[in-house]
Amino acid sequence: MGPGPALGVAAGGPAPGARGGADPPRGGARKFLVLGGLFDKDGSRMPARIAIALLSASAVVTGLVAYLPPLWQDAAAAEAKAANPRPAAPREVREPDAAAAGAGAQRAAPSRAREGAPPTATVPGEAPSAATADGLNTAPSAPEPPIRAAAAPRDRDEAPVLAATQVAERAPGSSSKLHFVGAKIRGSLYATLARRLPRSVADPLTAVVGRVLVWWVLPHRDLRRGDEIAVLYELPDGEEPRVHAVVFHSTLRGRTFRAYRFQPAGAPFARLYDAGGREIERRLTDTPIRDYEQITSLLYDGRGHQGVDFKAPIGTPVYAPFDGRIARVDWRTRRNGRCLHLHGNTFDALFLHLSRMAPGIRPGRRVKKGDLIAYSGNTGHSTAPHLHYQLMKGRQVVDPFTVQATYRAALEGEALEAFEVERRRLDAELRAEAEALEVPLSMPLAP
Ligand SMILES: [Zn+2]
Repeated sequence: MGPGPALGVAAGGPAPGARGGADPPRGGARKFLVLGGLFDKDGSRMPARIAIALLSASAVVTGLVAYLPPLWQDAAAAEAKAANPRPAAPREVREPDAAAAGAGAQRAAPSRAREGAPPTATVPGEAPSAATADGLNTAPSAPEPPIRAAAAPRDRDEAPVLAATQVAERAPGSSSKLHFVGAKIRGSLYATLARRLPRSVADPLTAVVGRVLVWWVLPHRDLRRGDEIAVLYELPDGEEPRVHAVVFHSTLRGRTFRAYRFQPAGAPFARLYDAGGREIERRLTDTPIRDYEQITSLLYDGRGHQGVDFKAPIGTPVYAPFDGRIARVDWRTRRNGRCLHLHGNTFDALFLHLSRMAPGIRPGRRVKKGDLIAYSGNTGHSTAPHLHYQLMKGRQVVDPFTVQATYRAALEGEALEAFEVERRRLDAELRAEAEALEVPLSMPLAP
């Protein structure tokens, strides 16, 4: 289970909102004539053939304009967002917009950068191309597109309506600062949230919630009409939204998924757990990093990003995930920052944006699985502390969560009991909010 199966499902299915060929508009001929008249300078009617040619050309241009943005959004939407814990200003980061993109949204492969795409703002993040940086990946699609913010929500987005409330306001005595949003999925995750929330919230919340959903479905591809979502979240000052509970019903999976934020006593970070106290994220058995907060980018999350990003404080130890030899260190440092290439029998691995190497780590040095090799950082083209881990088989980037052993950690004993208390509290808030707001959800909000 885990992320793997998500890849195989619905590969051939139509994208949400995708339609078959449109019916030819009626009265088309009349429109041609009218348009022909418009183009005519001296009042006489333009020959129909010219008019048709002009109209076709404008239709093609219109079509391109309508079609292109989703493509570059696919690519641009948010590698970066990934590891960035400080979205202080509202940013234009969007989940790839599946519904709008139609067929375009199904392109899981990395898109190429489009020079013509109109950036509205740059998004802090990582090097545009970790893949090219390594010198190993020679795949033609190697250049990872520059990180760009997506354009403003397009016309189909309705005026933002604040349907979310602050739970504390309706529950006097509660110290909760949680907000609630619940909706039936229509279009993309972003479009769904943006119908309920101001963009300044919907933007970062889409990124944060997308990082949860990605362990259940591919948010850029697998959302369907009939899906439902409910989120309890917090808006800490100067940080990205913090999700406390997510309930998501997938018609594709025929299941309702739940995630609850919880920090066991003594644990360095809060994490998300399912109703049974198991972590939502999978972990790598032979992990390059142990004390990370969250995985903020996966290979198949629709961003065309070539590695797995582990959000972790600067100076977090990085370990060799397999036996091997240090092949290179610190190449293309402007982009990669301090970086390390480990060559093994089966795999090669690249570690980017490090703060420093472990003592004695230099090219030629042999290391064993589990050896300390470096410390994570925020160097090179990276604006938030994280480890970029890129696993390669020959020249091919491979997904460590597919080709290496994984597991899901679970709470036990007192930690599990404490989690149960928190889960019931969050369930109660979810239910109370959905009822108070009369959100028409048909999925059960509590297990
Ligand atoms: Zn990365």
